[in-house]
Amino acid sequence: MVFDGPGRPLRSSELPRPEPGPGQALVEVSACGVCRTDLHVCDGDLHEPKPHVVPGHEIVGRVVAVGEGAPLVEGQRVGVPWLGWTCGECEYCRRDQENLCERARFTGYTLDGGYADYVVADARYCFALPEGMGDAEAAPLLCAGLIGYRSLRMAGDARRVGLYGFGAAAHIVAQVARWQGREVHAFVRPGDEAAKAFALSLGASWAGDSNEPGPEPLDAAILYAPVGALVPAALRAVRPGGTVVCAGIHMSDIPSFPYAWLWRERSIVSVANLTRRDGEEFLAIAPQVPVRTQVEEYPLERANEALERLRRGELSGAAVLRPGGVATRP
Ligand SMILES: [Zn+2]
Ligand SMILES: [Zn+2]
Repeated sequence: MVFDGPGRPLRSSELPRPEPGPGQALVEVSACGVCRTDLHVCDGDLHEPKPHVVPGHEIVGRVVAVGEGAPLVEGQRVGVPWLGWTCGECEYCRRDQENLCERARFTGYTLDGGYADYVVADARYCFALPEGMGDAEAAPLLCAGLIGYRSLRMAGDARRVGLYGFGAAAHIVAQVARWQGREVHAFVRPGDEAAKAFALSLGASWAGDSNEPGPEPLDAAILYAPVGALVPAALRAVRPGGTVVCAGIHMSDIPSFPYAWLWRERSIVSVANLTRRDGEEFLAIAPQVPVRTQVEEYPLERANEALERLRRGELSGAAVLRPGGVATRP
């Protein structure tokens, strides 16, 4: 499925099967999660996609060929995440902040991704996946899980955490946060009773509308919904000294607000991308929790429909695309 330009539906296309170069693996895609970032690519909110890029960065598949020197073996199940390549030389790479690398390349954005039967990936950025999870169930771990985990770490030792927007990331993060002994409050689109029920079923102790503060002050709030107006709303919901973590790659403008809402050492931070260490840590924790994902599967050809359901907030959990060869298997 190919992206031709903002506002145009993805186009089903026959492309030559890619060849793995040195250090790369050719992966036969079994499942690819649909992330809100894909929607931002399709809507033109992110401005530098590779021309005619294949989106998708929550990829689960099997290695079917390896290039010279790639540290993977044929037949191995791997996950391919958003961070596809970094330079290893810049100030950020040297400082253990490869998520901020100035020359980083991203799967499904500046590199072809997993809305496809095959993808090539730099083997150094692929992850081994926990056993005991199916391919479709594991796919959302690759971004919703990894970047969700990074955003939870940014919340520090917050005991009571508010999650704004209860979609793919929050439904995983809620489970991890509960396992860590934190209390979870879910803030959803006003009136979205299904999302409230979903959050409560995953261990949230309270669920309510995002335009009002919760019943008790939060130690931290994490924003997954791409709505700038939620930043001041979340600031009003956190206690002095608390943190508001903006976890998305894009957000509508943040409206101005009185300084008093920030004062008393509240802070606002953003999360950008992931490091390989985030992935290793999270994928080690996930089977201990154990994280269970709720997925809706779609044949690859119906990617546009899955994206539209995400846009409308109609998904419960995460949408996952299955290429034809896989979806038709018994
Ligand atoms: Zn770098
Ligand atoms: Zn993502």
